[in-house]
Amino acid sequence: VVLFDHQALRDQFPALKQTIGDHPLCYLDTAATSQKPQVVIDAMNEYYQFNNANVHRAAHQLSTRATQQYEAVRLQVTDFINASQSQEVIFTHGTTESINMVAFGLTSQIKANDVILIDTAAHHANIVPWQELAKRTGAVIKPIPLTADAQLDITAFEQLLLLKPKVVAISHVSNALGTVNPINELVAKAKAVGALTLVDGAQAVAHLSVDVQQIDCDFYVFSGHKMYGPTGVGILYGRYKQLDQLTPMLTGGEMIKTVSFNRTVFGALPNRLEAGTPAIAEVIGLGAAISFLLQLPREQLLAHEQQLMQYLQQQLQKLGDIELYGIAPINVGAVAFNLQGEHHQDVGILLDQQAVAVRCGHHCAMPLMASLNLNGCCRASIGIYTNKQDVDQFIHALNAVKELLL
Ligand code: PMP
Repeated sequence: VVLFDHQALRDQFPALKQTIGDHPLCYLDTAATSQKPQVVIDAMNEYYQFNNANVHRAAHQLSTRATQQYEAVRLQVTDFINASQSQEVIFTHGTTESINMVAFGLTSQIKANDVILIDTAAHHANIVPWQELAKRTGAVIKPIPLTADAQLDITAFEQLLLLKPKVVAISHVSNALGTVNPINELVAKAKAVGALTLVDGAQAVAHLSVDVQQIDCDFYVFSGHKMYGPTGVGILYGRYKQLDQLTPMLTGGEMIKTVSFNRTVFGALPNRLEAGTPAIAEVIGLGAAISFLLQLPREQLLAHEQQLMQYLQQQLQKLGDIELYGIAPINVGAVAFNLQGEHHQDVGILLDQQAVAVRCGHHCAMPLMASLNLNGCCRASIGIYTNKQDVDQFIHALNAVKELLL
């Protein structure tokens, strides 16, 4: 039961108020990027209008304000994911950069034949940086297989742990299927054999309460733009000791203590991993997104999303001639499907003509598509602002596509 005023919440997202052709926009591509509430847009505008200055060089008022706002967001993120201290929160430009920083930063700790386990359902962002690390070091990548119903295969994972992997990099929630990994259990098992753990939380933070100390991972990464914040900002959380041992991928200004032509000494965390001028406006926008999320009844919103997801799956099943992938007792944020015998791109284009925005393709998860024996699929994804009318409009449009094509 939704007790809060959902329409009032939705009204705070200006992009959702438009019509496209004769139809209201039906935005079911939140997993690619979420829409932004007005408060996020305003926070960024306000920074540019009144406080625009570089951070950490506070000889004047504007710079002091910008620095205070920027550092306040670090504290917000620290609380939001329950990190044990703010030096463990690094601002990056997104999940992709965060994972690259870890995979690059570990280079000197990895040797030839070391094993790196990755998730078959992983986004390319959590595959390719590890492949590059393997190329540099001679390490070996082993994918963790999926079960027949597209869930991570825990028994196979346990077998792979006998190889004593150095790194286990897994997703919290799959972007293509919305399947949820039992992350606490996986991390505990990986730690028991001494592996470093990285969790890709890009699809989790907007939909689940994330507590990095409870998960007990070494690294947790996510992007601002998938949690109602701006593009261009992401987070690399790391356990202090592990972060401090990463070789910085970027070097230059802001990250040093002293520089001379003979010797440069890097600064302390978090600056050590934040070379150059950061995405200041975007960080401030992310702070506004977190404040926005925290003043909402989070439990009720999560329940709202769960109900909507179940309704969406039921309606798809009812429609018929539909294949669904990775359906589990709980899917978070996204549902993957194909109209039987039809190409996903055709379906996507015909839905778009009815103002329904879904994503079609390989979802940056080509190994997952290969393991499902697909060359692609459609994905409908939801957020806190999605409502029943969106689902009904989508199903109505998909039914029209079906009648046209089948
Ligand atoms: N991992 C997952 C699970 C994702 O969904 C995404 C975004 N689609 C990424 C990584 C990459 O995030 P970004 O493009 O924001 O760097």
